[in-house]
Amino acid sequence: MASGASLLAAVLGLVIASAPVTRSWSTEGHMLTCQIAQGLLEPAAAHAVKNLLPEEAGGDLSALCVWPDQVRHWYKYQWTSPLHFIDTPDNACSFVYSRDCHDPSGSKDMCVAGAIANFTSQLMHYKQGSADRKYNLTEALLFLSHFMGDVHQPMHVGFTSDQGGNAVNLRWFKHKSNLHHVWDREIILTTLAENYGKDMDAFRKDLEHNITKGTWSDDMSSWKDCTDLTSCPTKYATESIDLACKWGYNSVHEGDTLSDDYFGSRLPIVTQRIAQGGVRLAMFLNRVFGKHKRDAAAPLHLAADDEL
Ligand SMILES: [Zn+2]
Repeated sequence: MASGASLLAAVLGLVIASAPVTRSWSTEGHMLTCQIAQGLLEPAAAHAVKNLLPEEAGGDLSALCVWPDQVRHWYKYQWTSPLHFIDTPDNACSFVYSRDCHDPSGSKDMCVAGAIANFTSQLMHYKQGSADRKYNLTEALLFLSHFMGDVHQPMHVGFTSDQGGNAVNLRWFKHKSNLHHVWDREIILTTLAENYGKDMDAFRKDLEHNITKGTWSDDMSSWKDCTDLTSCPTKYATESIDLACKWGYNSVHEGDTLSDDYFGSRLPIVTQRIAQGGVRLAMFLNRVFGKHKRDAAAPLHLAADDEL
């Protein structure tokens, strides 16, 4: 446990030290999702999150939301690398848990939907937890928070042969990029530069306003609708591959140049997915740490595919 704690502290130092440096979209997207979620936590969940976060995070979940990306290539955490995405059959435009949720060697449940269920299940032990479990649950919180962002990024549930668009090389306006990175990074960096003067807080406030009073205020309850925390990640992944087919891959070819038309039509989807990820992460954490006896009484587990 002590080594886990010091490892986390070391990574935390790295994350904080690198904070002023220009960040990738994936970092910004994860931070926004976690900031939105933390703002929607009820008192019990807010207390549990602050209790689980390392002191150095200063109570800010978003400071460590990108941690799973930082460690995925470290030897100790290499097993988590397949948990960030789902490869689905080319052009199937569907996600079937029993068919698609596995790592390259075929190990079941090793995908982002399985990971969300797994780490949610671990966090269910918080209420009975003892101090020596604290750092496992800290990691579970960071993984759950990160993967809830990943599952909402449409191209994280993409086609197998092009690795979710990573192998579709193209240009974003004038510079080289690829289809996956357009959705991970380029669209958000472009809107930050063009619409928000590169001010992340202004962008976040705009998203939060649209959730509570604006564009999405009528959608909040349907976004949060989830009768079974184990099966809802499958719904989110299904939404993502559907969006990936309709808006990500559609009409895009290797060597294309994507610019104003693609940016303008896809930006509303990117912003909605960030907001949905935040709202749903808050819903998960409120139910895991709150007083919903139904969830607490039935700890989740990764079992037969049909149950998820
Ligand atoms: Zn990730």
